Amino acid sequence: MNTKDMYINLGIAPEIYDYGEKILEGLKARFEEIDLTAEYNQCKVITAMQQNRVNATHFAATTGYGYNDFGRDTLEKVYADCFHTEAALVRPQIACGTHALAIALSANLLPGDELLSPVGGPYDTLEEVIGIRNSPGSLKEYGVSYRQVNLNPDGTFDYENIKKAINTKTKLVTIQRSKGYQTRPSFSVKQIGELTSFVKNINPDLICMVDNCYGEFVETIEPSDLGADMVVGSLIKNPGGGLAPIGGYICGSQKCIERCSYRLSAPGLGKEVGANLGLLPSFYQGLFLAPTVVASALKGAVFAASIYENLGFKVVPSSTESRHDIIQAVELKSPAGMVAFCKGIQAAAPVDSYVTPEPWAMPGYDSEVIMAAGAFVQGSSIELSADGPIREPYAVYFQGGLTWYHAKLGILMSLQKMYEEKLIELN
Ligand SMILES: *Cc1c(COP(=O)(O)O)cnc(C)c1O
Repeated sequence: MNTKDMYINLGIAPEIYDYGEKILEGLKARFEEIDLTAEYNQCKVITAMQQNRVNATHFAATTGYGYNDFGRDTLEKVYADCFHTEAALVRPQIACGTHALAIALSANLLPGDELLSPVGGPYDTLEEVIGIRNSPGSLKEYGVSYRQVNLNPDGTFDYENIKKAINTKTKLVTIQRSKGYQTRPSFSVKQIGELTSFVKNINPDLICMVDNCYGEFVETIEPSDLGADMVVGSLIKNPGGGLAPIGGYICGSQKCIERCSYRLSAPGLGKEVGANLGLLPSFYQGLFLAPTVVASALKGAVFAASIYENLGFKVVPSSTESRHDIIQAVELKSPAGMVAFCKGIQAAAPVDSYVTPEPWAMPGYDSEVIMAAGAFVQGSSIELSADGPIREPYAVYFQGGLTWYHAKLGILMSLQKMYEEKLIELN
């Protein structure tokens, strides 16, 4: 059998395969660019590991309190060096990205302080953390107010109104790098750097926090290279490299991270407690693999954008735009399109390929969500996955792919399912 036969054997029609190959011919230069970024970032990670003299003793499991956990402490130094920050908190006790963000916010905002989002609404799950949607334990309940400045219609920052919104109570500015479940563009690190400089010019004491989810290693610099005081994310996205089975990170200034550590464990305990439970090998090795895993995911995103754009769907970003995160939004115009697309991603998975994804009321989200993921780590979205809330404009958010070849199969399979449902016509 040749490679095309292997795809046919997996359920891809010959005309779908050929369509994909035709699209790929136009993507060689993009792929080369992605590989160059991965190469740079691979060097960055190896440098951080060498400088911190990572060795086999750092992979040992600790239990109980986890005092004197050198493996954990060294991993945090490696993260701090990768992100060029003074300190970092990288822990399995941080359950997910939302938890990491909630820690960073609640540790650095006190009653009477105000939080400002100058980039429009935050990610869905943060609405309850902040109290935009009421929730027990929200920042609002603790007397932290919230203000938001929406983006200009063209997706740029509304500097005039951002300036007006900053007042004597404003303490922390939160900037979400990735679009999340919105169809706005994701921001480049350079854009975030400009916004950070702008707000710090108004008040140098403002803390700038970046929700870095899905953005890590997509570019050669991170928001912390351009003035952000904290960058925050999930280990079951980019920096875990697909190997971390749980966890989150916060990298930032000594002052901010120390407060975060007290919020994560308890005042007085801070970073000193928190056993690693044997997870450190996956954290170290996952970080080591992250640059190339992110490159695979980016190739998948560019391939998907190019295919669906060619078929007349709106895609964000477009196939030729520069990339600032691994997410690809495809507006499929109908719930049926979303379901067919997700079925394809699911059917291409190494795990749970035989199940059918269905919309469900997921905690933290205010409309039904459909998710396709056949992942080794449950819910991991650095693994090939697609999801989206069932609401206008019926956009599926596609991301991940531990290998480019798996991402390719997933996209071809999504196309196959759309084709079978007569939702597309090949051109
Ligand atoms: C995924 C994500 C989060 C939340 O992370 P969870 O791990 O799902 O809790 C927050 N912000 C953005 C932009 C994200 O993509």
